[in-house]
Amino acid sequence: MIQIQHLEKKFGKLTVLKDVNIRIKRGEVISVIGPSGTGKSTLLRCLNLLEWPTSGSIIVDGEELLSANKVDAPKLRRKMGMVFQSFNLFDHLSVLENVCIGPIKLLAMSKVEATRRAMRLLKMVGMAEKARSMPAELSGGQKQRAAIARCLSMNPEIILFDEPTSALDPTMVSEVLSVIRTLAKQGMTMVIVTHEMSFARRVSTRVLYMDQGVIYEEGSPKEIFDHPRRERTRVFVNSIRDFRYDIHSEDYDLYAFEAELRNFCNKYFLSDETVQTAVQLAEKLLQYIPLSQGEVQLVFRYAEKTGNLALEILMPQELPAVVDEIPADIKAALTTENALHEDIVKRNDKMVRMVKLFIHSEK
Ligand code: ADP
Ligand code: MG
Repeated sequence: MIQIQHLEKKFGKLTVLKDVNIRIKRGEVISVIGPSGTGKSTLLRCLNLLEWPTSGSIIVDGEELLSANKVDAPKLRRKMGMVFQSFNLFDHLSVLENVCIGPIKLLAMSKVEATRRAMRLLKMVGMAEKARSMPAELSGGQKQRAAIARCLSMNPEIILFDEPTSALDPTMVSEVLSVIRTLAKQGMTMVIVTHEMSFARRVSTRVLYMDQGVIYEEGSPKEIFDHPRRERTRVFVNSIRDFRYDIHSEDYDLYAFEAELRNFCNKYFLSDETVQTAVQLAEKLLQYIPLSQGEVQLVFRYAEKTGNLALEILMPQELPAVVDEIPADIKAALTTENALHEDIVKRNDKMVRMVKLFIHSEK
Protein backbone atom coordinates (compact mmCIF):
# COMPACT_ATOMS: atom_id res chain seq x y z
CA MET A 1 0.00 0.00 0.00
CA ILE A 2 2.77 2.42 0.96
CA GLN A 3 6.43 2.19 0.21
CA ILE A 4 8.92 4.62 1.70
CA GLN A 5 12.43 4.58 0.28
CA HIS A 6 15.53 6.46 1.38
CA LEU A 7 13.42 9.13 2.97
CA GLU A 8 15.44 12.07 4.23
CA LYS A 9 14.28 15.19 6.03
CA LYS A 10 16.42 18.11 7.06
CA PHE A 11 15.44 21.18 9.01
CA GLY A 12 18.16 23.61 8.00
CA LYS A 13 21.37 21.87 8.96
CA LEU A 14 19.67 19.35 11.21
CA THR A 15 19.10 15.98 9.55
CA VAL A 16 16.14 14.43 11.32
CA LEU A 17 15.36 11.53 9.00
CA LYS A 18 18.48 10.01 7.48
CA ASP A 19 17.47 7.02 5.41
CA VAL A 20 14.08 5.63 6.27
CA ASN A 21 12.76 2.60 4.42
CA ILE A 22 9.38 1.09 5.22
CA ARG A 23 6.79 -0.98 3.39
CA ILE A 24 3.28 -0.92 4.73
CA LYS A 25 0.81 -3.56 3.64
CA ARG A 26 -2.94 -3.18 3.82
CA GLY A 27 -4.32 -4.36 7.15
CA GLU A 28 -1.02 -4.03 8.99
CA VAL A 29 -0.87 -2.41 12.41
CA ILE A 30 2.59 -0.96 12.82
CA SER A 31 3.85 0.51 16.07
CA VAL A 32 6.73 2.93 15.95
CA ILE A 33 8.70 3.18 19.18
CA GLY A 34 11.94 4.89 20.09
CA PRO A 35 13.49 7.66 22.19
CA SER A 36 12.06 11.16 21.83
CA GLY A 37 13.67 13.42 19.28
CA THR A 38 14.47 10.59 16.88
CA GLY A 39 12.07 11.78 14.20
CA LYS A 40 8.95 9.66 14.79
CA SER A 41 6.56 12.61 14.49
CA THR A 42 8.52 13.99 11.55
CA LEU A 43 8.16 10.65 9.79
CA LEU A 44 4.37 10.68 10.17
CA ARG A 45 4.20 14.32 9.10
CA CYS A 46 6.28 13.57 6.01
CA LEU A 47 4.01 10.66 5.10
CA ASN A 48 1.04 12.96 5.28
CA LEU A 49 2.93 15.79 3.53
CA LEU A 50 2.44 18.09 6.48
CA GLU A 51 6.21 18.34 6.04
CA TRP A 52 7.86 18.13 2.67
CA PRO A 53 10.68 15.54 2.68
CA THR A 54 14.13 16.67 1.56
CA SER A 55 14.65 13.61 -0.62
CA GLY A 56 13.60 10.01 -1.10
CA SER A 57 10.40 8.52 -2.30
CA ILE A 58 6.94 7.77 -0.97
CA ILE A 59 4.82 5.55 -3.14
CA VAL A 60 1.15 5.28 -2.23
CA ASP A 61 -0.93 2.77 -4.18
CA GLY A 62 1.66 2.78 -6.94
CA GLU A 63 1.80 6.56 -7.19
CA GLU A 64 5.02 8.41 -6.40
CA LEU A 65 4.14 11.43 -4.32
CA LEU A 66 7.38 13.32 -4.25
CA SER A 67 8.28 13.49 -7.93
CA ALA A 68 4.89 14.75 -8.99
CA ASN A 69 4.87 18.41 -9.88
CA LYS A 70 1.45 18.87 -8.47
CA VAL A 71 0.69 16.62 -5.57
CA ASP A 72 -2.91 16.64 -4.47
CA ALA A 73 -2.17 16.89 -0.76
CA PRO A 74 -5.82 17.20 0.30
CA LYS A 75 -6.65 14.03 -1.61
CA LEU A 76 -3.73 12.25 0.00
CA ARG A 77 -4.83 13.38 3.45
CA ARG A 78 -8.29 11.99 2.79
CA LYS A 79 -6.66 8.61 2.31
CA MET A 80 -4.49 9.02 5.39
CA GLY A 81 -6.19 10.15 8.53
CA MET A 82 -4.05 11.52 11.31
CA VAL A 83 -4.74 11.57 15.02
CA PHE A 84 -2.60 13.95 17.06
CA GLN A 85 -1.44 13.92 20.65
CA SER A 86 -3.32 17.17 21.28
CA PHE A 87 -6.66 16.12 19.67
CA ASN A 88 -6.93 19.21 17.41
CA LEU A 89 -10.72 19.38 17.63
CA PHE A 90 -12.48 22.56 16.50
CA ASP A 91 -13.33 24.11 19.84
CA HIS A 92 -16.22 26.21 18.53
CA LEU A 93 -18.03 23.20 17.07
CA SER A 94 -19.94 20.49 18.91
CA VAL A 95 -18.66 16.93 18.85
CA LEU A 96 -21.21 16.04 16.17
CA GLU A 97 -20.27 19.06 14.04
CA ASN A 98 -16.60 18.17 14.39
CA VAL A 99 -17.35 14.75 12.91
CA CYS A 100 -19.69 16.08 10.18
CA ILE A 101 -17.72 19.01 8.88
CA GLY A 102 -15.16 17.06 6.83
CA PRO A 103 -17.64 14.95 4.87
CA ILE A 104 -19.91 17.99 4.24
CA LYS A 105 -17.15 20.38 3.16
CA LEU A 106 -14.70 18.02 1.50
CA LEU A 107 -16.75 15.04 0.35
CA ALA A 108 -19.83 17.10 -0.60
CA MET A 109 -22.02 14.87 1.52
CA SER A 110 -25.51 16.03 2.47
CA LYS A 111 -25.96 17.21 6.03
CA VAL A 112 -28.50 14.50 6.74
CA GLU A 113 -26.23 11.74 5.48
CA ALA A 114 -23.16 13.17 7.22
CA THR A 115 -25.08 13.37 10.49
CA ARG A 116 -26.31 9.81 10.18
CA ARG A 117 -22.81 8.50 9.59
CA ALA A 118 -21.32 10.69 12.30
CA MET A 119 -23.75 9.30 14.85
CA ARG A 120 -22.80 5.77 13.85
CA LEU A 121 -19.10 6.56 14.29
CA LEU A 122 -19.69 8.32 17.60
CA LYS A 123 -21.56 5.27 18.79
CA MET A 124 -18.65 3.08 17.77
CA VAL A 125 -16.20 5.10 19.89
CA GLY A 126 -18.67 5.29 22.78
CA MET A 127 -19.37 8.99 22.34
CA ALA A 128 -22.96 9.06 21.02
CA GLU A 129 -24.20 10.49 24.30
CA LYS A 130 -21.82 13.43 23.97
CA ALA A 131 -22.71 14.30 20.37
CA ARG A 132 -24.15 17.70 21.36
CA SER A 133 -21.37 18.55 23.82
CA MET A 134 -18.67 21.07 23.10
CA PRO A 135 -15.04 19.92 23.23
CA ALA A 136 -14.41 21.99 26.37
CA GLU A 137 -16.95 19.86 28.23
CA LEU A 138 -15.11 16.63 27.50
CA SER A 139 -12.37 14.77 29.30
CA GLY A 140 -9.12 14.17 27.45
CA GLY A 141 -10.05 10.57 26.70
CA GLN A 142 -13.42 11.66 25.29
CA LYS A 143 -11.78 14.36 23.18
CA GLN A 144 -9.40 11.84 21.69
CA ARG A 145 -12.21 9.40 20.94
CA ALA A 146 -14.13 12.22 19.23
CA ALA A 147 -10.98 13.02 17.24
CA ILE A 148 -10.77 9.39 16.14
CA ALA A 149 -14.42 9.48 15.03
CA ARG A 150 -13.70 12.66 13.09
CA CYS A 151 -10.77 11.00 11.41
CA LEU A 152 -12.91 7.97 10.49
CA SER A 153 -15.61 10.20 9.02
CA MET A 154 -13.38 10.80 6.00
CA ASN A 155 -13.17 7.06 5.29
CA PRO A 156 -9.38 6.92 5.44
CA GLU A 157 -7.54 3.89 4.13
CA ILE A 158 -4.87 4.25 6.76
CA ILE A 159 -4.69 6.11 10.06
CA LEU A 160 -1.51 7.61 11.47
CA PHE A 161 -1.52 8.06 15.24
CA ASP A 162 1.08 10.30 16.83
CA GLU A 163 1.26 9.38 20.51
CA PRO A 164 -2.52 9.41 20.87
CA THR A 165 -2.45 8.82 24.62
CA SER A 166 0.53 10.78 25.85
CA ALA A 167 -1.47 13.92 26.70
CA LEU A 168 -4.01 11.93 28.67
CA ASP A 169 -4.53 11.40 32.33
CA PRO A 170 -3.42 7.83 33.12
CA THR A 171 -6.96 6.79 33.96
CA MET A 172 -8.08 7.66 30.41
CA VAL A 173 -5.39 5.98 28.42
CA SER A 174 -7.13 2.66 28.21
CA GLU A 175 -10.45 3.94 26.78
CA VAL A 176 -8.54 5.37 23.82
CA LEU A 177 -6.39 2.29 23.40
CA SER A 178 -9.53 0.13 23.42
CA VAL A 179 -10.94 2.11 20.51
CA ILE A 180 -7.70 1.69 18.58
CA ARG A 181 -7.74 -2.02 19.35
CA THR A 182 -11.28 -2.24 17.95
CA LEU A 183 -10.12 -0.58 14.74
CA ALA A 184 -7.26 -3.07 14.52
CA LYS A 185 -9.72 -5.94 14.83
CA GLN A 186 -11.77 -4.46 12.01
CA GLY A 187 -8.70 -4.61 9.79
CA MET A 188 -7.89 -0.89 9.63
CA THR A 189 -4.35 -0.19 8.46
CA MET A 190 -2.59 1.87 11.10
CA VAL A 191 0.77 3.33 12.00
CA ILE A 192 0.92 4.16 15.70
CA VAL A 193 3.72 6.10 17.36
CA THR A 194 3.43 5.17 21.02
CA HIS A 195 5.17 4.90 24.37
CA GLU A 196 2.69 2.31 25.57
CA MET A 197 4.85 -0.75 25.24
CA SER A 198 2.39 -3.36 26.44
CA PHE A 199 -0.21 -1.94 24.06
CA ALA A 200 2.26 -1.96 21.16
CA ARG A 201 3.04 -5.55 21.98
CA ARG A 202 -0.59 -6.60 21.98
CA VAL A 203 -2.00 -4.66 19.08
CA SER A 204 0.70 -4.55 16.42
CA THR A 205 1.57 -6.92 13.64
CA ARG A 206 4.98 -5.28 13.37
CA VAL A 207 7.10 -2.98 15.52
CA LEU A 208 9.60 -0.47 14.19
CA TYR A 209 12.26 0.75 16.57
CA MET A 210 13.41 4.14 15.41
CA ASP A 211 16.64 5.74 16.58
CA GLN A 212 18.56 8.76 15.31
CA GLY A 213 16.65 9.16 12.08
CA VAL A 214 16.62 5.57 10.86
CA ILE A 215 14.54 2.46 11.40
CA TYR A 216 17.20 0.81 13.52
CA GLU A 217 15.42 -2.50 13.98
CA GLU A 218 12.09 -3.98 13.04
CA GLY A 219 10.31 -7.20 13.74
CA SER A 220 7.31 -8.84 15.31
CA PRO A 221 6.38 -7.61 18.80
CA LYS A 222 7.96 -10.75 20.22
CA GLU A 223 11.20 -10.19 18.35
CA ILE A 224 11.51 -6.54 19.35
CA PHE A 225 10.40 -6.79 22.97
CA ASP A 226 11.67 -10.23 23.94
CA HIS A 227 14.60 -10.85 21.63
CA PRO A 228 15.93 -7.55 20.29
CA ARG A 229 19.00 -8.23 18.18
CA ARG A 230 20.73 -4.89 18.27
CA GLU A 231 22.31 -3.04 21.15
CA ARG A 232 20.32 0.20 21.15
CA THR A 233 16.99 -1.59 20.80
CA ARG A 234 17.91 -3.74 23.77
CA VAL A 235 18.80 -0.72 25.91
CA PHE A 236 15.60 1.08 24.96
CA VAL A 237 13.27 -1.84 25.45
CA ASN A 238 14.84 -2.70 28.79
CA SER A 239 14.87 0.85 30.12
CA ILE A 240 11.10 0.79 30.45
CA ARG A 241 10.76 -0.16 34.03
CA ASP A 242 7.15 0.66 34.75
CA PHE A 243 4.36 -1.74 34.56
CA ARG A 244 0.92 -0.18 34.34
CA TYR A 245 -2.34 -1.93 34.79
CA ASP A 246 -5.76 -0.34 34.42
CA ILE A 247 -8.75 -1.58 36.31
CA HIS A 248 -12.13 -0.60 34.95
CA SER A 249 -14.49 -2.44 37.27
CA GLU A 250 -14.74 -4.73 40.25
CA ASP A 251 -14.80 -7.63 37.83
CA TYR A 252 -11.28 -7.05 36.62
CA ASP A 253 -9.32 -10.06 35.48
CA LEU A 254 -7.18 -10.89 38.47
CA TYR A 255 -5.38 -13.71 36.68
CA ALA A 256 -4.41 -11.59 33.71
CA PHE A 257 -3.17 -8.93 36.10
CA GLU A 258 -1.07 -11.44 38.04
CA ALA A 259 0.35 -12.92 34.88
CA GLU A 260 1.37 -9.52 33.52
CA LEU A 261 2.90 -8.52 36.83
CA ARG A 262 4.89 -11.75 36.95
CA ASN A 263 6.13 -11.17 33.42
CA PHE A 264 7.27 -7.72 34.39
CA CYS A 265 9.06 -8.95 37.53
CA ASN A 266 10.69 -11.82 35.67
CA LYS A 267 12.00 -9.48 33.05
CA TYR A 268 14.10 -7.74 35.68
CA PHE A 269 14.94 -10.93 37.52
CA LEU A 270 13.13 -9.95 40.69
CA SER A 271 12.94 -12.72 43.23
CA ASP A 272 9.86 -14.91 43.63
CA GLU A 273 9.48 -13.45 47.08
CA THR A 274 9.15 -9.94 45.68
CA VAL A 275 6.66 -11.06 43.07
CA GLN A 276 4.58 -12.80 45.70
CA THR A 277 4.63 -9.76 47.99
CA ALA A 278 3.69 -7.45 45.13
CA VAL A 279 0.77 -9.57 43.98
CA GLN A 280 -0.60 -10.08 47.48
CA LEU A 281 -0.29 -6.46 48.50
CA ALA A 282 -1.91 -5.18 45.35
CA GLU A 283 -4.73 -7.65 45.68
CA LYS A 284 -5.37 -6.77 49.32
CA LEU A 285 -5.15 -3.03 48.77
CA LEU A 286 -7.63 -3.20 45.95
CA GLN A 287 -10.19 -4.54 48.37
CA TYR A 288 -10.21 -1.16 50.08
CA ILE A 289 -10.72 0.89 46.96
CA PRO A 290 -14.24 1.30 45.57
CA LEU A 291 -13.51 -0.03 42.08
CA SER A 292 -16.98 0.74 40.80
CA GLN A 293 -16.38 4.49 41.04
CA GLY A 294 -14.00 5.22 38.22
CA GLU A 295 -10.86 3.83 36.77
CA VAL A 296 -7.97 2.83 38.90
CA GLN A 297 -4.48 2.49 37.59
CA LEU A 298 -1.69 0.53 39.18
CA VAL A 299 1.85 1.53 38.36
CA PHE A 300 4.69 -0.68 39.51
CA ARG A 301 8.06 1.02 39.30
CA TYR A 302 11.31 -0.81 39.52
CA ALA A 303 14.50 1.15 40.14
CA GLU A 304 17.37 -0.95 38.96
CA LYS A 305 19.93 1.13 40.81
CA THR A 306 18.47 0.71 44.28
CA GLY A 307 16.61 -2.54 43.64
CA ASN A 308 13.42 -1.00 45.00
CA LEU A 309 10.02 -1.97 43.73
CA ALA A 310 7.26 0.52 44.47
CA LEU A 311 3.59 0.54 43.67
CA GLU A 312 1.49 3.60 42.96
CA ILE A 313 -2.24 3.30 42.87
CA LEU A 314 -3.94 6.18 41.07
CA MET A 315 -7.63 6.74 41.48
CA PRO A 316 -10.20 9.51 41.16
CA GLN A 317 -9.50 12.33 43.58
CA GLU A 318 -13.11 12.28 44.78
CA LEU A 319 -12.73 8.92 46.44
CA PRO A 320 -12.23 8.99 50.19
CA ALA A 321 -8.76 8.42 51.60
CA VAL A 322 -7.99 4.74 51.88
CA VAL A 323 -4.81 4.56 53.88
CA ASP A 324 -6.61 4.73 57.22
CA GLU A 325 -8.94 1.94 56.15
CA ILE A 326 -6.15 -0.51 55.57
CA PRO A 327 -5.90 -2.97 58.45
CA ALA A 328 -2.81 -3.36 60.57
CA ASP A 329 -1.80 -6.76 59.22
CA ILE A 330 -1.32 -5.37 55.73
CA LYS A 331 0.60 -2.43 57.09
CA ALA A 332 2.75 -4.84 59.08
CA ALA A 333 3.68 -6.62 55.87
CA LEU A 334 5.31 -3.42 54.74
CA THR A 335 8.70 -3.53 56.27
CA THR A 336 9.84 0.03 56.74
CA GLU A 337 8.31 3.17 58.12
CA ASN A 338 6.96 5.58 55.55
CA ALA A 339 6.37 2.57 53.35
CA LEU A 340 2.83 3.65 52.71
CA HIS A 341 1.50 7.10 52.07
CA GLU A 342 -1.31 8.84 50.32
CA ASP A 343 -1.41 12.12 48.47
CA ILE A 344 -3.36 14.17 46.01
CA VAL A 345 -1.00 14.72 43.10
CA LYS A 346 -1.10 16.26 39.68
CA ARG A 347 -0.79 13.84 36.78
CA ASN A 348 -1.02 15.18 33.25
CA ASP A 349 -2.87 18.28 34.39
CA LYS A 350 -5.36 16.45 36.50
CA MET A 351 -5.49 15.91 40.21
CA VAL A 352 -5.65 12.29 41.28
CA ARG A 353 -5.44 10.47 44.56
CA MET A 354 -2.29 8.43 44.82
CA VAL A 355 -1.49 5.72 47.31
CA LYS A 356 2.17 4.91 47.11
CA LEU A 357 3.90 2.05 48.75
CA PHE A 358 7.30 0.70 48.87
CA ILE A 359 7.10 -3.04 48.29
CA HIS A 360 10.49 -4.56 48.49
CA SER A 361 14.14 -4.10 47.92
CA GLU A 362 16.21 -6.65 46.11
CA LYS A 363 19.37 -5.35 47.72
P1 ADP B 1 10.03 12.44 18.00
O1 ADP B 1 8.62 12.51 17.52
O2 ADP B 1 10.69 11.12 17.74
O3 ADP B 1 10.17 12.84 19.43
P2 ADP B 1 10.40 14.68 16.23
O4 ADP B 1 10.12 14.15 14.87
O5 ADP B 1 9.34 15.47 16.88
O6 ADP B 1 10.89 13.49 17.16
O7 ADP B 1 11.70 15.60 16.19
C1 ADP B 1 12.94 15.14 15.73
C2 ADP B 1 13.91 16.30 15.70
O8 ADP B 1 13.51 17.22 14.71
C3 ADP B 1 13.99 17.08 16.98
O9 ADP B 1 15.33 17.40 17.21
C4 ADP B 1 13.18 18.31 16.72
O10 ADP B 1 13.66 19.40 17.45
C5 ADP B 1 13.41 18.53 15.23
N1 ADP B 1 12.27 19.19 14.57
C6 ADP B 1 11.01 18.69 14.45
N2 ADP B 1 10.24 19.55 13.76
C7 ADP B 1 11.00 20.61 13.45
C8 ADP B 1 10.78 21.84 12.73
N3 ADP B 1 9.58 22.12 12.20
N4 ADP B 1 11.83 22.68 12.61
C9 ADP B 1 13.03 22.39 13.13
N5 ADP B 1 13.31 21.26 13.81
C10 ADP B 1 12.33 20.38 13.96
MG1 MG C 1 6.88 12.99 18.57
